[in-house]
Amino acid sequence: KIATVSIDPRVEDFLKGEPKKLFIGGEFVESLSGRTFNTINPATGERIASVYEADKEDVNRAVEAAERAFKGSWSKVTPSERGRMLWKLADLIEEHAEALAQLETLDNGKPIREARAVDIPLSIDHFRYYAGWATKIAGEVIDNSVGRNMFTYTRREPVGVVGQIIPWNFPLLMATWKLGAALATGNVVILKSAEQTPLSAIYLAKLIQEAGFPEGVVNIITGYGPTAGAAIVQHPRIRKVAFTGSTEVGKLIMQQAAGNLKRVSLELGGKSPNIIFPDADFSKAIPGALMGIFFNQGQVCCAGSRLFVHKKVFDNVLSDMTSYASKLKQGAGMDESTQIGPLVSEEQFSRVSNYLRKGIEEGANPLTGGQPLEGAGYFIPPTIFADVQDHMTIAKEEIFGPVVAAMPFDDEEQIADVIRRANNSEYGLAAGVWTTDVRKAHKVAHALEAGTVWVNCYNALDAAVPFGGYKQSGFGREMGSYALELYTQVKSIWMNLD
Ligand code: ADP
Repeated sequence: KIATVSIDPRVEDFLKGEPKKLFIGGEFVESLSGRTFNTINPATGERIASVYEADKEDVNRAVEAAERAFKGSWSKVTPSERGRMLWKLADLIEEHAEALAQLETLDNGKPIREARAVDIPLSIDHFRYYAGWATKIAGEVIDNSVGRNMFTYTRREPVGVVGQIIPWNFPLLMATWKLGAALATGNVVILKSAEQTPLSAIYLAKLIQEAGFPEGVVNIITGYGPTAGAAIVQHPRIRKVAFTGSTEVGKLIMQQAAGNLKRVSLELGGKSPNIIFPDADFSKAIPGALMGIFFNQGQVCCAGSRLFVHKKVFDNVLSDMTSYASKLKQGAGMDESTQIGPLVSEEQFSRVSNYLRKGIEEGANPLTGGQPLEGAGYFIPPTIFADVQDHMTIAKEEIFGPVVAAMPFDDEEQIADVIRRANNSEYGLAAGVWTTDVRKAHKVAHALEAGTVWVNCYNALDAAVPFGGYKQSGFGREMGSYALELYTQVKSIWMNLD
C-alpha cells in the first residue's frame, strides 16, 4: 500500500503461481509432505506468498538428483562451459535486476535503493568473478623425481554433493556467495534459503535453469532449520556443509556434522569494533561509522556495533552521529526515499526490542532511538547508546539490529588499551579503524583479532577479497581464491616410472 515503486511485472507474474515450489533435479516440485508456509512482508506484517516446506524426504530426493548429475551430465561439462554458465547466470541476474531487487525488498524489508545498489550488483560481480576461476583450477607437478623414478602430481577434485544453508539478511547475495565457488570447482549443490526470505532464491532457480546448468547440479529448497537444514547437515552423502548464520546454530551444525565427519565451513556472528582515533578524517569517519552500523538495519554479521571513539573527540563525534541518525528516513523499503527499513521479522523485532530495554535497564543512555516503533511492520529506529560499559549486555552480545554501543577510550599511546578492549570478545569477524596516521593504521590492523579490518572505510566487500571469521565468528574463507579450497579436495598421484 505504501509502495511508491511500481511493481515489476515479472514480480507480479512470479507471485501469481502459489505455493512457490522447490527446485529439485531441474524441476519445480511440491514438497513430498505437501506442507507449505507463508513469507511475510516485514514493512506491513502481511503475507506475500506461500512456499512449499521441504523436509528430510525432499533433501533425500535432492541428494539423489545431485548425485546423478555429479556422476552423469555435470561430469561431462568442461571447465570452460562451467565458466560460461556462471557468466550467463550473471547476465541473467543483470537482466532481471529490478525484479530481484524488488523481491529482496518485499521479502527482507531492506530499502530498494540498497537492494539495487548493493545486493544485486555484488551478486552479478560474484558470479562473473567465479566464472573466471572455473578454467583456472589446477593441481601441481611435484617435480622431485630425480633419483626415485617417480612422477607425482596433484589434482584438485570437487568434493561432490555439498549442502549450503544461508541466512535472511542478504538472501540473494548469500546464495551467490555459496554457489559461485562451489559451481566453479565442479560440485553439485543443495542450497536451503532462510525461512524468512525464500523468494529470491526460487527466482534465481529459474535463472539457473535458463543459464543451462544440467538438471540436479543446483537444487534449491525452502524450509526450516531444524527440519530441512538439519537433514542437510545429517545426510551421510552430503560431503560438505557451508553455513552462514548465528554462532548458536553454527555450533549445532558442527556437532551434527561430526556424526558423519562432513567438512564444515561457518560464517557466523560478530560484535565488530569500529575505532575512531582523534586524528581521523571526521568527514569520512562519521558517515562511515553510521553506515557501519545502520546499513541493512544493522542486520549485518560484520556490523560495527561496538564504536570506540577517543575521549577527546567523543562528544563531537556522537553529537554529529546523533543528529544524522535521528534524521534518517525510516519506512517501507519499497518507498524509494527510505533510508532505513523494518527488521526482517516479528521475531527479530522482539529480540532487538529486548536489547533496547536491557540497554536502558543496565544504565546506557540512548542519544537517539531506544524505543521500538508502534504500529504495523517491524520498525526499530536507529539507536545510538552512550554511557555504555564494556560488560553491559548491549556491548557484548550480537544485537543484529540498528543499535550501536558507543564507548570512549583514553590511552596515552592511544592504542594498547583500545586494542585490548576491541579484542575482548569471543567474536572476530571484522573491525574498523579510522586514523590518518599510516603507522598507527597498520599497527592496529595487525593487532586486531578479526578476519577483516577496514581502514578508513567500512563494509567494503569484493568477490576477489576473502571474508570470514576469527574465533567464534567461524572458519573458512569465502570469496577470492580462498573459497576454492572449501570446495576442492586434493588427490596426490604417484606414478612409478620403473
Ligand atoms: P537467525 O537466528 O538470524 O534467523 P539462524 O542461524 O537461525 O539465523 O539461521 C540461519 C540459517 O540456518 C537459516 O537458513 C535457518 O533455517 C538455518 N538453521 C536454523 N537452525 C538450523 C539447524 N538446527 N540446522 C540447520 N540449519 C539451521
